[in-house]
Amino acid sequence: MTEPIRTILQESRPDQAVIDRYARAAAGLIGAENVSANHVDLLSTCRDYWPVNSIWMLEGAVPALPQLVVWPQSTEEVSQLLALANEQRIPVVPYGEGSGALGGVIPLRGGVMIDLKRMNKLRSLDQKNLLVTVEAGVNGELYEEHLNRAGYTGGHFPQSLRCSTVGGWLACRAAGQFSTRYGKIEDIAVSTEAVLADGTIFRGRRVPRSSTGPRVDRLMIGSEGIFGVITAATLRVWPLPEKRHLASYTFENLDDGLEAIRLVMRSGARPAVVRLYDAVETGNHFPELSDQRCALILLIEGARTIVDAEQEVIAEHVLANGAEESGSKYVEHWLETRFNISAASRLLQKGAVLDTIEVTTNWHNALSTYLAMQEALKGVEGTIMASGHWSHVYPEGAALYMTVVGFPAEDKITYYKKLWQGAMDASLAEGAAISHHHGIGLHRGLWMAEEHGKGLEVLRRIKGALDPHGIMNPGKLGLEEVAKWQK
Ligand SMILES: Cc1cc2nc3c(=O)[nH]c(=O)nc-3n(C[C@H](O)[C@H](O)[C@H](O)COP(=O)(O)OP(=O)(O)OC[C@H]3O[C@@H](n4cnc5c(N)ncnc54)[C@H](O)[C@@H]3O)c2cc1C
Repeated sequence: MTEPIRTILQESRPDQAVIDRYARAAAGLIGAENVSANHVDLLSTCRDYWPVNSIWMLEGAVPALPQLVVWPQSTEEVSQLLALANEQRIPVVPYGEGSGALGGVIPLRGGVMIDLKRMNKLRSLDQKNLLVTVEAGVNGELYEEHLNRAGYTGGHFPQSLRCSTVGGWLACRAAGQFSTRYGKIEDIAVSTEAVLADGTIFRGRRVPRSSTGPRVDRLMIGSEGIFGVITAATLRVWPLPEKRHLASYTFENLDDGLEAIRLVMRSGARPAVVRLYDAVETGNHFPELSDQRCALILLIEGARTIVDAEQEVIAEHVLANGAEESGSKYVEHWLETRFNISAASRLLQKGAVLDTIEVTTNWHNALSTYLAMQEALKGVEGTIMASGHWSHVYPEGAALYMTVVGFPAEDKITYYKKLWQGAMDASLAEGAAISHHHGIGLHRGLWMAEEHGKGLEVLRRIKGALDPHGIMNPGKLGLEEVAKWQK
């Protein structure tokens, strides 16, 4: 007999008889081969890349387990599956590829995982209007390759490109590494198609802009599965760039680097990639550059004459702010290694606790937020590194991305919670937004009330109207307390 799998956060589960009945009905709708209660399927969809899941997994436990996984292939099938779950009050969690960083897919109350991977078609590529309509379950890398073959790019390259889906990007408001030119996913998305908890299907219009009241389909962007399932979206595409220019610089300090980027953005130039590293990360990523200086890497792409002009304007601003040129080879190195996260896996295996915490700052509090978060992270006993960089740059500010590594003497979960409490307190005190692109999931929900104030109540009311029985991804986005995961 196999031992039951230990779950840490499981709050409740519908009766097995209810699930068995649902499974039979689901098999009738989408085929028995697309419905599974096998342990391997339950285990592979029960968690994401939230580091706490890895800590538990290495100890032989999982956060929680679903009771069923279903793989629909069309929007109509998603609608039927949701309507049925709604009638039976069965919790449902949409699942892309589980690359989320905050525990967003954990099935706290059991029920059904709707895995979108079979919804992977590119429905149309409209070259005249530069729009693609794509289903939500398509893998990021395959999506980009498909566009490239037709001479286009989707402009969205999260570090998780190879292990995330278009639906997951939209659900989490993701940001790609080239976002300064192409925008975050909410800028790239023109409209969404989605299914609400009761099975209602609705689609936004693919017009560039409209003045027709609030755009309800845009509510799904950033909804992390709490309102329903995103089944498809119409996204912008761009012709493959004619020219790419790579440049890197170093600065004596972060202040000079930040001011240089601010002026570049103010000038109207829009490099695709802008990354300013602190001295620690400069040393880690580019050992040849002195670890006492801060590296800035830039990638400019687009039409040849525009790239040439942007290159000139950018060089002018950064050199006027004390930069030293260091050529293109560091950007080439970054391009080659940008999807590699093997160092993190090695550290995990050695017993480290590590995480990344991204927030959004304006220019006036960019440096002070970095310093406050770094101090808070270093102040927790056991931390051996707390470093940062800025990327995803806007005229009004930038995303600050902190990385922390520790070998705590105390219990790892206690240490982890102290890290986050310190980082979130520092970020809120400085006036930053508590997330730029990883989203909220389960864990960051602990700070949603402080982030939103009364706005969180508005979100709760919308949730109550769209999902009155609360079947969609319960316990997420800080809408309700999760007794087993407190500060
Ligand atoms: C190594 C690594 C690097 C990363 N780099 C980046 C990065 O550069 N930029 C960035 O923004 N993020 C990054 N992330 C975070 C993560 O990849 C993104 O949040 C991604 O958008 C999640 O996509 P997914 O398909 O894996 O979603 P999942 O993890 O499966 O789901 C995430 C959340 O969205 C919901 N969801 C998923 N699909 C749907 C749908 N179709 N409809 C409704 N809800 C849905 C889920 O219920 C869950 O709440 C990284 C993660 C890792 C592990």
